[in-house]
Amino acid sequence: MPCIQCRSKNLSCSENTPCQWCSISGEVCQPISEAEQIRSVLSAFGPKAYFNEYPDKKGYFVIYTRQDGNMYVANLNKQFKKVGEDKHLGHESNVSNVPYNRQFTVEDLINAGRSFNG
Ligand SMILES: [Zn+2]
Ligand SMILES: [Zn+2]
Repeated sequence: MPCIQCRSKNLSCSENTPCQWCSISGEVCQPISEAEQIRSVLSAFGPKAYFNEYPDKKGYFVIYTRQDGNMYVANLNKQFKKVGEDKHLGHESNVSNVPYNRQFTVEDLINAGRSFNG
């Protein structure tokens, strides 16, 4: 995890404590908590984004809706870095029956989109 100081100044953090920059500047080095990291990752995907961990815990995924209403899934590694291309799930009107208030998987969503798209 990068530290809060580096993130706020847009520096590349050496990710040890204290990190390279904080040791030089003498500032308190505090790694970003996982919750903060998730919040900041999610905000990059816009207001309609859903974050979850893969059941095998090898990484995370974000399901998000672009402004045109198309939904995508992005894969993230354990460091919250994007991996590969985003997968198109379909238009949100087709997957609107997916219950957001409980746990669901990417496969659930893809299947929901598929059943509507034929
Ligand atoms: Zn740092
Ligand atoms: Zn630091």
